[in-house]
Amino acid sequence: MKTTTKPKFQVIVDDKYCKGCGLCVHFCPKKELKISKEKNKKGYFCVEFSGAECTGCLRCALICPDAALKIIRQQ
Ligand code: SF4
Ligand code: SF4
Repeated sequence: MKTTTKPKFQVIVDDKYCKGCGLCVHFCPKKELKISKEKNKKGYFCVEFSGAECTGCLRCALICPDAALKIIRQQ
């Protein structure tokens, strides 16, 4: 019998570019992104990725005006 494993994805946030606008948070259908409670070196509240339910749909990366997100398939 053939079995399949659900792929896992990781979203990498480049905090050099993220301005904390929240667009990706709003558009993620799985609610896997949230705005950090701490400022980065530039004074922005960047986005954080939580993970487990990410489907790799790319919506967050495509909507980001600063191209701050990269999605990696882990398996
Ligand atoms: S790839 Fe899709 S599911 Fe994963 S964090 Fe981005 S918008 Fe959400
Ligand atoms: S859309 Fe881009 S700039 Fe805006 S919070 Fe998300 S990663 Fe940061």
